Amino acid sequence: MQTTKHNWTKAEISEIYYKPLLDLVFEAASIHRANKDYNEVQISSLISIKTGGCAEDCAYCPQAARYHTDVAVHALMQVDQVVQAAQKAKSGGASRLCMGAAWREVRDNRDFDRVIQMVQEVNALDMEVCCTLGMLTEHQAQRLADAGLYAYNHNLDTSEDDYKRIISTRTYDDRLNTIKNVRKAKLTVCSGGIIGLGETEADRIAMLQTLATMEQHPESVPINALVPVKGTPLAEQPRVPIWDMIRMIATARIIMPNTAVRLSAGRNEMSTLEQAFCFMAGANSIFAGEKLLTTPNPAFDEDLAMFELLGLKTREAFKNGRPENTRIEAQV
Ligand code: SF4
Repeated sequence: MQTTKHNWTKAEISEIYYKPLLDLVFEAASIHRANKDYNEVQISSLISIKTGGCAEDCAYCPQAARYHTDVAVHALMQVDQVVQAAQKAKSGGASRLCMGAAWREVRDNRDFDRVIQMVQEVNALDMEVCCTLGMLTEHQAQRLADAGLYAYNHNLDTSEDDYKRIISTRTYDDRLNTIKNVRKAKLTVCSGGIIGLGETEADRIAMLQTLATMEQHPESVPINALVPVKGTPLAEQPRVPIWDMIRMIATARIIMPNTAVRLSAGRNEMSTLEQAFCFMAGANSIFAGEKLLTTPNPAFDEDLAMFELLGLKTREAFKNGRPENTRIEAQV
């Protein structure tokens, strides 16, 4: 493990972010190679367990009920459907299953009881289980932890100053509060953002600063490139240049050296060469599987062929040890 710094200033992060690109990538790659598992990539598979009809107004999201998109609304999946999806993901090389529900927040009802059962059953398959279900109370986070959850995803999306332009139905503090509740339950944190929303580079740097000044860095930081979807307010946003993705990934790698930096949405539009550059810059995690919630993503076999070409290995589940709450015998 490398030593981590938690008092990064915006000026320090800017100095890294604006380095000449090849110097930046070289520095990030050097830091990445100091980690003994640098050639391992963690594969997460993301499934949408409840799709569409969301009360929030995230400007990029086709699942918000208020936008007219082609996303079909689906009620919460059954537990056995999720277990089947998890088995398929595991056989495709995924070590983690991330279950996403288009909810504003978790409610203490039968749907949540069903999610708890999903967490228990997927954990019993020896996979890391992650959920992204919206806002959580401390008690709900604890229930998920007790069921064997490994990680909770809650993205910051953009900077605090830019947040209102993208989402008006909740605040940045709501977001940070849920992350605190997740930490209190001793779950690992997955939190990152999206570029290409029309934010400035100062917003990107500010978001990275929020992540890198947390008392404990998130264990995973997904870096997404916006996939504009027809019917959403950001439908006409231009595609993010690959160099912006590389800059974000490399900067995240340098300021959070032990974090899994995940090359997330937008990968479907990238060539193998572009993805290789992202891995060189320190990305060591991807989402795999044909769909990323509602947008297309490369299939497992294409990814495994790319790994072979680039000499990358898939990371096994619980590489950093199995936390107490995920021990299977504790569930029965
Ligand atoms: S990103 Fe999540 S919270 Fe926002 S509208 Fe989409 S499903 Fe709802």
